[in-house]
Amino acid sequence: MQGSEHTRVHLLCTVAIAGGMMLTGREDAAYGISLGMVIGTLWITPDLDLTYNDARRNWGPLRWIWNPYASARRHRGINHTYVIGPIMRLLYLALWFAAPAYLLWTLLTRTGSWPELSVPLPPVTFVLAGYVAAQWLHLLCDGITPFSKTGRSLEKYKVKPKPHIRVKPPGAVAAPPQQR
Ligand SMILES: [Zn+2]
Repeated sequence: MQGSEHTRVHLLCTVAIAGGMMLTGREDAAYGISLGMVIGTLWITPDLDLTYNDARRNWGPLRWIWNPYASARRHRGINHTYVIGPIMRLLYLALWFAAPAYLLWTLLTRTGSWPELSVPLPPVTFVLAGYVAAQWLHLLCDGITPFSKTGRSLEKYKVKPKPHIRVKPPGAVAAPPQQR
């Protein structure tokens, strides 16, 4: 599925899920899950392993942070898995932002310890659930089910060069048709 198609399907599902939750009176869950699904649709997707894709463009001037991620893995490898892929992308982002945040905090406060943060657990859980739902929806739209062969095995078929295609060197003259 193409990036724009993914976006359309994901946003439609987000509206449907959020609408359903609103109707059942779960507004807090609706907001949190919607936010997570939008993040997992527009900014953090399995297709970040591609050099050019909508999610990377949406990072704007920060899109270069995904260069090592894309160059380290082939498309549809471990990124298109149900558990490791979503966790790996979050850890990758933490690598980029946690160390600078820690350094900044240390410089500003001249302490060597993290600030004590009181994270509101339920909203964060809803956002995470929305993020994971978006990742799984992406895989389903790509035709990858939790029980299908994913990652390397799929990729093996995708990138295999076609043996019958030969590149003609520049200036080469086409061979005359063979006489029978
Ligand atoms: Zn994909």
